[in-house]
Amino acid sequence: MEERKHLYVFYKEEEPVSSKVENMKSLAAQQGFTLVEDHKEANIIASVGGDGAFLQAVRKTGFREDCLYVGVGAQDIGFYCDFQLDDVGGMLQAMNSAQIEVRKYPTLEITVDGHSSFHCLNECSIRSSIIKTFVMDVFIDDLYFETFRGDGMLVSTPTGSTAYNKSVNGSVLDPMLACYQVSEMASLNNNQYRTLGSSFVLSSERQLTFKILQDNSHYPIIGIDNEALSIQHCENLQFKLSSKKIKTVKLKDNSFWHKVRRSFL
Ligand code: NAP
Ligand code: MN
Repeated sequence: MEERKHLYVFYKEEEPVSSKVENMKSLAAQQGFTLVEDHKEANIIASVGGDGAFLQAVRKTGFREDCLYVGVGAQDIGFYCDFQLDDVGGMLQAMNSAQIEVRKYPTLEITVDGHSSFHCLNECSIRSSIIKTFVMDVFIDDLYFETFRGDGMLVSTPTGSTAYNKSVNGSVLDPMLACYQVSEMASLNNNQYRTLGSSFVLSSERQLTFKILQDNSHYPIIGIDNEALSIQHCENLQFKLSSKKIKTVKLKDNSFWHKVRRSFL
């Protein structure tokens, strides 16, 4: 395996994090890592903060596949943060070990109106921007599936299943599964409008399409992870599991299910 020694640290410059990051950088340099100023030159990208910072680091560096992403929690470890800022020795040791095992997380690719495409690591949310409900037709591949009317829908990756998706009663999915999950937010269900009502999981072979009904000019808000898409007009959203995967370090005793148990049970 190619040696991974070019480290870029992604963090928000504020105290006390900045000083701790400086310590981390000098420790890394002592241990033979090269600290790079431009993330394009890195083959390890460490984010310092929380899971939100990790999502930003991945987005701002372009969902790179030739890089190992490492999450360092400023306070605690989290879902994407395997290490703690107060114990970066452990992280450097793991990075230095000859046989680091890598785990790969599936990402989603979203295409808006057939041209612009975006990636996300947690989820894409689409919700009404006004007090009224919004309506869209849901297709699985070419099959018309349902007409949704309500607050919105979430399409989440397996690693995103413990985030927003869990708050709307979606299932927690093992990231070793190449799939994605669709969950509803407050669907209207009566004799006129009917949706499945439960979350459903699609395989990597499937494509999901939302066709937003344009009978009024109320466009929804589209979120990708922790950013809003600055798209006003949108009629057609297509989702598929991306061929891009995010690589992180695989540690003994810190599997996805360890994290789920630690956080929720
Ligand atoms: P935030 O509002 O600070 O995050 C909400 C919480 O979600 C934080 O505790 C964050 O952890 C945690 N989180 C992020 N990704 C997670 C994951 N994959 N599994 C479990 N927990 C996760 O915003 P943020 O930190 O920028 O994170 C953005 C994410 O927040 C979105 O992608 C969405 O999933 C989630 N969110 C949830 C709700 C909801 O549950 N009602 C609403 C909006 C957004 P850290 O504190 O370590 O950052
Ligand atoms: Mn956060």
